[in-house]
Amino acid sequence: MLEVLRQIVQEVNSASTLEEALGIIVSRVRVAMGTEVCSVYLREEDGSRFVFSATEGLNQDQVGIASLAPGEGLVGTVAEREEPLNLENAENHPNFRFFPDLGEEHFNAFLGVPIIHQRDVLGVLVVQQAEHRRFDEGEEAFLVTMSAQLAAVIAHARVTGAVDSDEVAAGAPTKISGVPGAPGIAIGTAVVISPIADLYAVPQKFVDDRRGELKAFRGALGRVREDIRGVADNLGGELSPEDHALFDVYLGILDDSSIGREVVSLIKEGHWAQGALSKVMIEHIRHFERMEHSYLKERAVDVKDLGTRVLAYLQASDKEEQVFPEQTVLVGEELTASSLGEIPRDRLAGLISVRGSGNSHVAILARAMGVPTVMGAVDLPYTKLQGRNLVIDGYNGTVHLNPPPEVLSRFEAIVDSDRELSRDLESLRDQPCVTEDGHRMPLWVNTGLMADVSRSLEHGAEGVGLYRTEVPFLLRERFPSEEEQRQIYRSQLEAFAPRPVTMRTLDIGGDKALPYFPIEEDNPFLGWRGIRVTLDHPEIFLSQVRAMLKANAGLGNLRIMLPMISSVSELDEALELIHRSHREILQEGVETPLPRIGVMVEVPSAVYQARALARRVDFLSVGSNDLTQYLLAVDRNNARVADLYHSLHPAVLGALQQVAEAARAEGKKVGICGELAGDPEGAVLLLAMGYDMLSMNATSLPKVKRALRNVSLVEARALLEEVMQHEYPGAIHARLERFLAEHGMENFIHNPVA
Ligand code: PEP
Ligand code: MG
Repeated sequence: MLEVLRQIVQEVNSASTLEEALGIIVSRVRVAMGTEVCSVYLREEDGSRFVFSATEGLNQDQVGIASLAPGEGLVGTVAEREEPLNLENAENHPNFRFFPDLGEEHFNAFLGVPIIHQRDVLGVLVVQQAEHRRFDEGEEAFLVTMSAQLAAVIAHARVTGAVDSDEVAAGAPTKISGVPGAPGIAIGTAVVISPIADLYAVPQKFVDDRRGELKAFRGALGRVREDIRGVADNLGGELSPEDHALFDVYLGILDDSSIGREVVSLIKEGHWAQGALSKVMIEHIRHFERMEHSYLKERAVDVKDLGTRVLAYLQASDKEEQVFPEQTVLVGEELTASSLGEIPRDRLAGLISVRGSGNSHVAILARAMGVPTVMGAVDLPYTKLQGRNLVIDGYNGTVHLNPPPEVLSRFEAIVDSDRELSRDLESLRDQPCVTEDGHRMPLWVNTGLMADVSRSLEHGAEGVGLYRTEVPFLLRERFPSEEEQRQIYRSQLEAFAPRPVTMRTLDIGGDKALPYFPIEEDNPFLGWRGIRVTLDHPEIFLSQVRAMLKANAGLGNLRIMLPMISSVSELDEALELIHRSHREILQEGVETPLPRIGVMVEVPSAVYQARALARRVDFLSVGSNDLTQYLLAVDRNNARVADLYHSLHPAVLGALQQVAEAARAEGKKVGICGELAGDPEGAVLLLAMGYDMLSMNATSLPKVKRALRNVSLVEARALLEEVMQHEYPGAIHARLERFLAEHGMENFIHNPVA
């Protein structure tokens, strides 16, 4: 059964339209289960009805016509109850409804299962049979398994189909849900960025210069042929005649009479060479994958390999400078920090990443840069969006293709009011962050990119609470030398002097892999990360600390902070290395003070040992992004569980309180540098908990300042006491929204437009 399931899912996956996918489902499931009827009913976009969408065995003429409301008939009942219905005789069920045109009258046995994707009932899958019998347990389990697997495929095909159809080009609105990445609305043109030599990630686009594309394709093909002949010649004597024949097969595949011809004909229709190649190759790969015979099935690997080689040559010869439209929305399967560097900042309007979530590091950078971003748009057929106009709602995590004029104008109105709000907030630049009852709260910034410096100073930052040193490491092709690092750190320290700059030692691992130091793990967030890596590689740690200490000579505004500390011994070791570096540098004749040293509290064990940690250092700083992920066991990078990632979860708030109390008990300062500090709702609670400093991305700073200036410490404490009685994160969030609205900040709240 497993093999049958796998095959059906694979076939459905390779369908290019929703209709085709449904057609494959009904015919294959009917055969696999040996039933007389298999049909799919799909829910309409507005959720009001379930439409008879595909069938084998019932009346085809009714496809797209017959429909039922939720709760109506047996299909509506399955959808409403969200559970299978298995009946020996359908007619006897009280909810049975007879549709004369469907041709159901001969069928007695009925088994219907809901098709559910991310808690959403997309439709109902039904099998029917004339014989009076109950489908057995095995059959029911098979259909349930089938439906669970098909749900994601159908959801994806639905969106892809909508994007593909001519209807959309003519203006049919399509909304795709993801996860909020960075707040704001962007209205712009999609530019798809694709990884090198990945046939499945090539954007589809049309070009005028067909002759040029043909030439490029033939050139790339020629290079691959030469390569293959070269390999065959080199191996000459070692190859058996059969092996030699394999190379001939390879060359044959690329022949003008075979795949090559298909690519050429697509190019002649106007496809660019890379798109034509990927289309044709993917079709052939799927064709081979579907074959029964295992030898032929494996040929899919050869075809893929060939296609990838040709694509690599095409990409290498594609010297044409990428042109970015004025309002570029960068779209990619997995955007990374370095992909942000590919485009001039003044052209970058927004970002969409198919993978990742709101606390992925690329989203954090986007927030720092003030670029509206949607993450985890898993159903987005991103390769088909090249050149499309779209709207990104970074507040709610949605992408809108062809929004109707009234929706577009509502988005435009938000853009205007955001602009007005930020002008209004600019006036706060030189105002201190003081509550109505005179409590002063220092607001610091998180930095990483050089561009953050000017933004931070413009927004009135009083210091840097977190300089993510891994960012300059991410943007290079090898580890920077000690001297290169010294220069980078020096410019940070100088830019903010005399304000303090807190430099965190290298925090790689998790979702931050250096291209030149890959870490492959099954559970990267629970693996070799942060201090664990640098303690295992003292040479990396020492050269970084030495560079920081030297950069601090004559300035004295450096603070050093250690990430991912999960036990006291790690801290002891790291402190020992820092002190050793300092002694050595003094011996080398460089006058530099020993900086203040702090620990990040971002692992639950550090919360419980906060006093022991605080005793050993000058300050604590809570990394609430990781602390939330580890307390709630929710991968911050996984869109599927993004709904469970609540920074305002009562357990997280309890831990934050506990850390503040521990630091106070040891007479040490405590700050926070996770994204919660930059959320006006979180900031009010952190003020009440007694945090000494909030560090956030520069974009959030003016909003947080406005929020804290509009409240009193007394009110904030009362609010904290009240919300700590709540048991649900949603209730806390709702209470905080109300609090902001009551304090003149209703324009900080953004509900979905459409
Ligand atoms: C955190 O975890 O809260 C933090 C500030 O560090 P990062 O987001 O870089 O992991
Ligand atoms: Mg962290």
